Amino acid sequence: MAVPKRRTSKTRKRKRRTHFKLSVPGMVKCPQCGEMKLSHRVCKECGYYNGNEVVND
Ligand SMILES: [Zn+2]
Repeated sequence: MAVPKRRTSKTRKRKRRTHFKLSVPGMVKCPQCGEMKLSHRVCKECGYYNGNEVVND
């Protein structure tokens, strides 16, 4: 089994982790109300999807 020759230093580890960030994937602007919403999902602000109202509360 391959074993690392050197321990990964705190600095190396932290530098590597600068590339993994929290991201909110697939956020788009709702064409109906202009709020940010998840793409391919019904807008939770106005209940519209693909130009028609699908959720009415
Ligand atoms: Zn909306």
